[in-house]
Amino acid sequence: MGDGRLAAVPVPPWPRATPTAAESSFQMAIQWFPGHMHTTRKAIAERLPDIDVVIELLDARLPGSSANSLLAEMTQGKPALKVLNKQDLADPELTDAWLAHYRAQPGTRAIGLDASVAGPAKALVAECRALVPNRGGMVKPVRVLICGIPNVGKSTLINTLVGKRAAKTGDEPGITKVEQKIVLENGFYLFDTPGMLWPRISIEQSGYNLAASGAIGRNAFDEAEVALELIATLKRRYAERLQQRFSLVELGDDEAVLEAIGVKRGAKIRGGAVQMHKAAEALLGDYRAGLLGRITLETPEEMAEWRRAQAEEEARRAAEREAEKAADKLRRSGRRQASGGDAG
Ligand code: GDP
Repeated sequence: MGDGRLAAVPVPPWPRATPTAAESSFQMAIQWFPGHMHTTRKAIAERLPDIDVVIELLDARLPGSSANSLLAEMTQGKPALKVLNKQDLADPELTDAWLAHYRAQPGTRAIGLDASVAGPAKALVAECRALVPNRGGMVKPVRVLICGIPNVGKSTLINTLVGKRAAKTGDEPGITKVEQKIVLENGFYLFDTPGMLWPRISIEQSGYNLAASGAIGRNAFDEAEVALELIATLKRRYAERLQQRFSLVELGDDEAVLEAIGVKRGAKIRGGAVQMHKAAEALLGDYRAGLLGRITLETPEEMAEWRRAQAEEEARRAAEREAEKAADKLRRSGRRQASGGDAG
């Protein structure tokens, strides 16, 4: 598919730092706003020493790609609760697989949730308490930090948890203006992450999955490319659903499928050509609304394979850069010797 890049870069409403060499070396044109992440990193680092449990909200449809690697680095060793939110939109079998994957990690518990349903959301408190049984009560309250990439459902979950009883203590000096401490029950404090954790997209497939899920602003990617990748994923595990939803008798190659979706949804222009971005909008809109059924875009095994391939690619590029540097040095010293010879 094309040169493997997601086209078009958005102009974010905040200042953006220059990506580091490692970041900019990836051929991924979706931006992950390093400047913004830096602010969030600082705020989280300040709060972390007083935190007992870190809750990371993940999107159950993409529980690997919606995880934040920066957070993982920063919170290593802290008891963790992974909440696979929007499980009502995800494939139940794969949600179980992902829960097992996360539960196998040390000091980690994991639950699936639909953030708008109050009863199960409250289970989150018990899960956190189970992670730190030595804490509780007013003297040693359980202090929990909740994090998640935009649009994963953090506000919805907090509102569900808070109900009418919660007390917001508002801003705390010395942290940031937007951090909130929420008293969920006696001896249980929830700290809302200040700032936002953007996904750090280094794996191309994760970029496509994040874009398909709606986690990334629509101006930040080429909808047709994302739709083509979504079609490829759906064909692997949910081909029948795709056929049923768009009354497709058969599935040809990915572009033919997108074109057929366009025809079904009246995206033809005069002359008969299909407007692929309209066809893509139709597919992405239906997917995000759950109209194709409960679909998960990735398995733990696929994610592990993407990470492995990415690490290999990074190592290859680093070796290439080193080799270029060495060749450059050699050329320069050759020139110096030559000019030294001329002078003598
Ligand atoms: P935030 O940016 O993480 O605070 O995300 P929001 O709480 O604003 O939620 C983003 C969108 O996802 C909203 O349209 C919510 O209604 C929706 N949403 C949140 N949680 C769930 C869930 O568990 N299931 C479904 N289907 N939608 C959800």
